[in-house]
Amino acid sequence: MNKTIHKVGEMVGIPSRETDQILAQVRANTAKLEGCSEPHDFSIALNRHTKQPLPNPTPQQTFGCRWQCSKCGGHVDAIDKSWYNRGLVGRKLNDLNACYEAEEKLDQNQRERMMEYLHDARREEWNRLPIKTTEAFEWMICHATAAQRWEAINRAVAST
Ligand SMILES: [Zn+2]
Repeated sequence: MNKTIHKVGEMVGIPSRETDQILAQVRANTAKLEGCSEPHDFSIALNRHTKQPLPNPTPQQTFGCRWQCSKCGGHVDAIDKSWYNRGLVGRKLNDLNACYEAEEKLDQNQRERMMEYLHDARREEWNRLPIKTTEAFEWMICHATAAQRWEAINRAVAST
């Protein structure tokens, strides 16, 4: 594989030394990803050129960028991130306990956002309630499905 990559490198005009560097980077990244206490949390957008984290990325900045896992530091492209997260949602869709565990890891800000997103998701139901009390809101939140909670958790994490 090494030789093949070097040949391809030569064909497209990349010097052998740079090919070695790229290979080393790919291996280091793979090692990080494989050493992660999964699930990965690909929530950090990386600058396309510097590969440094973007603090408050704009949609233009995240277009085509790579996403870093906040736990292991490994990174993947947007397509891999999307497939990974879909798999994660699929596996955990009906797992409320895993959901509560994830919720406990949210900070105050994220938790509030998560509640807002859940509220959004169930707004119609909320609007139909004749009396809107904190208790009613809590009841509604507590009875959200695991899928709704995951969606809200993911959005809350992605927005911070
Ligand atoms: Zn990870």
